[in-house]
Amino acid sequence: MSQSQVWHPFTQHALEPAMPEIVLTEGAYLHKADGSRILDAISSWWVVTHGHRHPRIMKAIETAASTLDQIIFAGFTHEPAERLAKALVGLAPSGLDWVFYSDSGSTAVEVALKMALGYFRNIGAPRSRIVVMEHSYHGDTIGTMSVGARGVFNAAYEPLLFEVDTIPFPAAGREQETLDRFEAVVGDRRAAALIVEPLVLGAGGMLMYPAWVLTELRKIAEASGTLLIADEVMTGWGRTGTMFACEQASISPDILCTSKGLTGGAIPLAVTLATDAIFQAHYSEDRKKTFFHSSSYTANPITCAAAIANVEIWQNEPVAERITALSAKQAAGLRRFGDNPFFTDSRATGTIAALDLRTGSAGYLAEIGPKLRAFFLDKGLLVRPLGNVVYLLPPYCVTGDELDRLYNAIEEAGERFGSRA
Ligand code: PLP
Repeated sequence: MSQSQVWHPFTQHALEPAMPEIVLTEGAYLHKADGSRILDAISSWWVVTHGHRHPRIMKAIETAASTLDQIIFAGFTHEPAERLAKALVGLAPSGLDWVFYSDSGSTAVEVALKMALGYFRNIGAPRSRIVVMEHSYHGDTIGTMSVGARGVFNAAYEPLLFEVDTIPFPAAGREQETLDRFEAVVGDRRAAALIVEPLVLGAGGMLMYPAWVLTELRKIAEASGTLLIADEVMTGWGRTGTMFACEQASISPDILCTSKGLTGGAIPLAVTLATDAIFQAHYSEDRKKTFFHSSSYTANPITCAAAIANVEIWQNEPVAERITALSAKQAAGLRRFGDNPFFTDSRATGTIAALDLRTGSAGYLAEIGPKLRAFFLDKGLLVRPLGNVVYLLPPYCVTGDELDRLYNAIEEAGERFGSRA
């Protein structure tokens, strides 16, 4: 290829080796121009749930594109958006009756934050604070960086970020501290919302916490009139073992954001679901109470058709069984590392598995990250560790043999790059 002019995301071009060019995607694989293929162990940034280019989704995109392209969504509607909204309300935790469309996980979270503040303003009891969980990641826009962990990802943009209240991550044995801190923070009734990644904090290091903590957080939020925003952008669509992670805590949040697996990962679409109370707070003859948010491509019909096809895959194929089987295989894969001296921790929630490599340095910028990435890529594996955290978040079509290959490579990486206990 001639000299590229493409600026890639989260990429230090000065250090990045030549990037493989992908010419075909299929199932769990990315095919390179030279005919070799790469096993996509992270579902191309956690989006491709069923595998690349699922025929039903590809067909739905083709069919929708034969009649509809983009339609202004203020004052107009279309069948794919209406049908999808009905399906989503049926699938989501109960009480989430309204569907607001957008086009990325970050935007879905921005929408959620605006809905929360709009709700309190419109009911005449304004609240201004957002409570966040330590180590969280909610996206890279200004608002989502503000509610995410502060650090290397956003240090340069700090002057643009707003202040938040932070509760500690509920690490094993310290869960009560999280709950106590949350109770203290919401005591003055200034918090509009708590935003959390349910059960698994993704980019913060695949950190996992038990469902009962979420149940308790929900209770405290409710008692203090604080809205709960569940950011299921990563955890939605079966990743943690259930359709939505909130189900495992038997809770319904006030607002739920989801994207990534919403279209099976084929095409960008996101939604923010909200309760009727939040919608009604914006429903008024007073035009100032309008929910002032849109993007040009809100509810693009082709993307909605892809999401409907995804829902149909869930209804017509044994997706839940695949997830159960994959979750069991991940748990079995991790058992091999129980006494492996090169790893300090291994954990899994549903289909997500993670291992912390024992190294001198941790954190996203740890030298080990790019080394590990190159090591795996050499073996034809797309594994993109978060610093020293090696994780597998594969599409549900991955086979046992493919997982074995991945776990063998992780073992080898431990021996090569890890330090002994
Ligand atoms: N929220 C969570 C929990 C995420 O994991 C991500 C992306 O990884 C986002 C929000 C942002 O989504 P997007 O990259 O589509 O903007």
